[in-house]
Amino acid sequence: MSWKPMTVQPMMKTGDNNDADPTGSSFAATAQGTFDGVDLQQLAQHIATPFHAYSATAIRQRINELQTALAGVDAMICFAVKANSNLAILQLMASAGVGADIVSVGELRRSLHAGMPPERIVFSGVGKSADEIAGALNVGIARFNVESLDELHTLQQVAKAQQMTARVAVRINPDVDAQTHAKISTGKSENKFGVSIDEARRWFAERRQLTHVQLDGLHVHIGSQILSLDPFRLALQRVAAFWRELERAGHPINSIDVGGGLGVCYRAGEDHPVAAVDYVATIREALAGYQGRILLEPGRYLIAEAGVLLTRVIRIKQGAERQFLVLDAAMNDLQRPSLYDAWHDIVPVSDASRPMTRYDIVGPVCETGDTFAREREMPECVAGDLLLIKATGAYGASMASTYNSRPLAAEVLLNQGRYAVVRRRQHFEEMIAGEQPARHWETL
Ligand SMILES: *Cc1c(COP(=O)(O)O)cnc(C)c1O
Repeated sequence: MSWKPMTVQPMMKTGDNNDADPTGSSFAATAQGTFDGVDLQQLAQHIATPFHAYSATAIRQRINELQTALAGVDAMICFAVKANSNLAILQLMASAGVGADIVSVGELRRSLHAGMPPERIVFSGVGKSADEIAGALNVGIARFNVESLDELHTLQQVAKAQQMTARVAVRINPDVDAQTHAKISTGKSENKFGVSIDEARRWFAERRQLTHVQLDGLHVHIGSQILSLDPFRLALQRVAAFWRELERAGHPINSIDVGGGLGVCYRAGEDHPVAAVDYVATIREALAGYQGRILLEPGRYLIAEAGVLLTRVIRIKQGAERQFLVLDAAMNDLQRPSLYDAWHDIVPVSDASRPMTRYDIVGPVCETGDTFAREREMPECVAGDLLLIKATGAYGASMASTYNSRPLAAEVLLNQGRYAVVRRRQHFEEMIAGEQPARHWETL
């Protein structure tokens, strides 16, 4: 298998990072219906809805905020690829100096393909197979975030067979409640992620028996869409206490990975995200005195608010009790509302000074769960209206499926008045590629 990276084609000159968005508001698509300087009505004349649009300016702004807050810290930002794995997004991350946090060989290959240097890639996840471990070791990734003793032993065996040394961080489960949706909480002792501090202590005590593993890192990731500093602080304090204990016991810690989880604003006026500078201050404070490298794995924070899903109203259906606004986007394009009961602000693209009404906003998929919002107050709509579902840049396209045989939607990158299609809408032939009638029946 060849994993040779293609050369990085920087998508912008270095130095562009600091440029403020001339429109002054790249995150919020403006009332005039532009997003990163692109007129969305016009864009939707060229590209069939539904499609995802991402603002490169907004993404760079977020990266820049975090990098600025981290000034003077030996830090590496590794974007959680699962949040948005489009190659153009990964390429943009790579050219801004951001690495990758991956959870599968597919994500590894995407990252390398986008020009991410292996030394900026870390590998997380409870279910890394021996093959995946071998592949990642072979290309020389920075570090494995190991989540079980069995995985640690597999890594030792694979590294030994390849005559290599694997750099390892143990993922600590700090037993902290991230105060977020149960399905995106990962740092409670009942969750499948990480190991207890007691177990990690035993790993370190026996680390010298691991001849091909360099166990010198700690990792923690307590959950996602976290809107308060408290759970971060609590988790980091526990990690810091453990790091100090390990250092005293003669186990040097060269890397502490603080995970991701920074929340974003999905509901204007209700969600109050933590500012990057305050988040980083909490890290600095909790890890005061620590000399090694700090890794961060933000996913949502870097991309969620930089993305919107463009969709048209197919029709308005008057139900017995409710009015349904039926869109051409569905749960296969954006799963978060059906999977997590997530709120997304939904607004008409055209400045609509129309009377307000209430809709259940639904897609065409044959599931009651295919609902973006219930009894949502909105300006009255008519068939054909273009709507924006906001803050869909993270866990939107990357979680999409072809359920109901709906092709994967296009993805478009916007950058200061220009756009590039970075994934065209899937063709029917691509959707059925690999399927075939049962012609040859095999016996075992
Ligand atoms: C999903 C995940 C992240 C990113 O989480 P966000 O909430 O998107 O920042 C980071 N690290 C690990 C290990 C993850 O599983």
